[in-house]
Amino acid sequence: MSCIYCFIKDEYQHKLKTMSRHSTLRFEDDLYKYKENFLESLKNLDSSNLCSCCHGFAKNENIVSFLEEMKTDLQSKIDYIAVVFDEIINIYKTFITCNHEKAYHGMVAFLQKYSTNYTSINAQQLCKPMFRVRRKTGDYDESDIREYFHIPFTKRYLAGNQRYSMTGQPMSYMAESLQIALNEINGTIEEVNIALFFPRYSYFYRNGMYDVSNGFIGNLNALISETYTGSSMPEYDNSYYTFSKNNMKKMIGDYILYQILQYPTKEGTKGVFVQEYVLPQLMMEAIQNKGDWLGLQYQTSKPPMYKVVNEYWRVPNLNYCFIIPYTADTAYNEQYIKKFFYEIYFQKENDIELEKVQQMIEVCFENCRKAQAQKYIMQEYFHYTVCVETYLKEMVRLNTEEYVETKEFQIQKLLLYKFLIHINEIICNPDKYQIIKYSDN
Ligand SMILES: [Zn+2]
Repeated sequence: MSCIYCFIKDEYQHKLKTMSRHSTLRFEDDLYKYKENFLESLKNLDSSNLCSCCHGFAKNENIVSFLEEMKTDLQSKIDYIAVVFDEIINIYKTFITCNHEKAYHGMVAFLQKYSTNYTSINAQQLCKPMFRVRRKTGDYDESDIREYFHIPFTKRYLAGNQRYSMTGQPMSYMAESLQIALNEINGTIEEVNIALFFPRYSYFYRNGMYDVSNGFIGNLNALISETYTGSSMPEYDNSYYTFSKNNMKKMIGDYILYQILQYPTKEGTKGVFVQEYVLPQLMMEAIQNKGDWLGLQYQTSKPPMYKVVNEYWRVPNLNYCFIIPYTADTAYNEQYIKKFFYEIYFQKENDIELEKVQQMIEVCFENCRKAQAQKYIMQEYFHYTVCVETYLKEMVRLNTEEYVETKEFQIQKLLLYKFLIHINEIICNPDKYQIIKYSDN
């Protein structure tokens, strides 16, 4: 018994994908099986008010009718969905039967024809706290920010084959929260050195990132949450919301591509070549060649467990991968590091109270207002301060009371506090840091 809401969730699709494993050990066979299971399940879904796991919806007629309307619409597009699957599977088959170049062009053509323009995030969404951890191995200088940034160009032989990175290509990986960064390397707080990065808006305002995440469920949850709070009425067939019947075909394209890009690897088949990484890496190349994208953000496959109060809230679950432009004369791209604010956690640093961080947030706001009164353009610094405030509030809201006592939370607070001190110095000295002014005319 599953409804359309259950069906769209990652857990359900994950089950479908693992169920679709073919005994031939050929990924193309798995993909055809997944397509078949996907279409079969979609045809046989239950109504949302009968669904045992979504019983909460039954009390809200508006949500139920929205979901039912969406289900009927998706079921009427079965043939189209089959075509989307075939197009993606063909890119993979082109790669293994013809060559890389043809497959790459297949990916670019797919994105043009089937993808939306909504699958990217802009600079404002991108400029927020990001965490990076490295195991303490004692063989690198933990006070040097470059050690956290990317594998040096002189050691590119160490850059391995990952889902979203190609062998030999140094990239920079960051996580939306410290916990995600720790989960990614299966490490504890005691085992790692930690740095905070914050992309600077003034350097990245023209750029964005490709977003590989389940936007479908994200949109749906936002809509359900708004319906529960009464701030809006869900409406499926309309011409003013992005998430509506009008745009469903393109959303389906993005959704199926996303699910296939995130296809779990199969035990025992991860060699020098990983079948499941072909499409994600072609995607990464397509992004690399589309100049204004810095890289991509993708959902972690090891999401932290939060004490989530409301299951329709978005929770931090993202990783970021920045493509690092090549430099010939230095081991690290020094110019690129300067596009970020950064702070490093030093092991013996004292704890800081949450109230002191909150006071510092107020100080930054106040000084921003003062500078703004003198006609300096301070939006960027307001934005950073709001991001810190939001981040801390979210961490407190999502976790247990004990969490705020943990070393993880302590370190995040401290890094953010150091960041605030850092930007406050700029906010207080706008001329010295070349902040521009509104012109008088
Ligand atoms: Zn359900």
